[in-house]
Amino acid sequence: MRVAKFSVAGEVRFGIVDGPELVVLKGHPLFTNYETTGERVAIKDVQLLPPTLPTSKLICIGKNYADHAAEMGGEAPAEPLMFLKPLTAAIGQGETIVLPSISDQVDHECELAVVISSVAKNVPADKALDFVWGYTIANDVTARDLQNKDGQWTRAKGFDTFCPIGPWIETEFEPEDQVIETRVDGELRQHGRLNQMIHDVPRIIEHVSQVMTLLPGDIILTGTPAGIGPIEAGQVVEVSIEGIGELTNPVA
Ligand code: MG
Repeated sequence: MRVAKFSVAGEVRFGIVDGPELVVLKGHPLFTNYETTGERVAIKDVQLLPPTLPTSKLICIGKNYADHAAEMGGEAPAEPLMFLKPLTAAIGQGETIVLPSISDQVDHECELAVVISSVAKNVPADKALDFVWGYTIANDVTARDLQNKDGQWTRAKGFDTFCPIGPWIETEFEPEDQVIETRVDGELRQHGRLNQMIHDVPRIIEHVSQVMTLLPGDIILTGTPAGIGPIEAGQVVEVSIEGIGELTNPVA
């Protein structure tokens, strides 16, 4: 099942994706058991929003693919390397990534994103999937020059619009060897497979939940494969994961 968050006529709603339409839900899908209003709306007539649920945090894992760690000039860390992006960075399908004037190099990073279903603290890896509600796609947009200059990554990865997420949450997805890709203006830039992740989703949840309590709706970005590169104003960036969909955002 694919669950989307959207706005229509100024109201924020959730819906289940059914072909080109959304079956509108009465309330919040994690808490109301998918009760529907009976309405349907065409996806083309609404604005898809980032599927935050309400999310308390966007947690990210860095250098989780060996080929990407190598292109960054280092080895992959032995433990998952964790950082945060602010919720104000989140945008949805079709919304514009805005390049900040203080950066000269902004890069795309396609990533699998995990959506947490219930409160999780000190969860062992073998129980971790009990706390996953579904998966979506994210673009961990990064001001590479500022990342190198600052040494830590809050500014480089925290600008408004630097976390496209969506287009929806797929609740029946299981990460295996699905293809993950980025295209810029249709040109293939990144191509990897989810089984290339060094730390898998259960290990990541174990690691993160030792540090901070995960709350329903929290989203964990799981790292990017090789091929990161710059995006420029006027371009369109599309990140895709086989079995979930495509997330497309223009750049300005
Ligand atoms: Mg990243």
